[in-house]
Amino acid sequence: MAVLKIIEYPDPRLRIKAKPVEAVTDDIRQLAADMLETMYAAPGVGLAATQVNVHQRVLVVDVTQEQDQPLAFVNPEIIEREGTTEAEEGCLSVPGIFDRLSTRSSRIVVRALGRDGKPFELEADGLLAVCIQHEMDHLMGKV
Ligand code: ZN
Repeated sequence: MAVLKIIEYPDPRLRIKAKPVEAVTDDIRQLAADMLETMYAAPGVGLAATQVNVHQRVLVVDVTQEQDQPLAFVNPEIIEREGTTEAEEGCLSVPGIFDRLSTRSSRIVVRALGRDGKPFELEADGLLAVCIQHEMDHLMGKV
């Protein structure tokens, strides 16, 4: 595994829209593993491939304090949303700004492929839901 370089605002590469992953190959698995290592090293709770200058729809999150529940999403899409919540969000690509307030759905259901290439659905609320929505914005080229 390797720690990757995180690109920072206002780098124009953060505006590139990520392309869907065609197949979950060993390269994608390696990317997800490297992204998790990069996120833990930062430290952060989420990272989108866009932030390491790979423009494919891959994101990783782990909102646990123990950093022991790594989640990787390939081609994530939100298939259900419910409620709204005001969230204070930090971003590894915008260092120094920790409390950017945003309005997010409070509960979501995400469908994605796992690192094994199999589809799964995950219901998320709280910090996990906010974090996934934040990282999905990166994949859309939003900062
Ligand atoms: Zn971010």
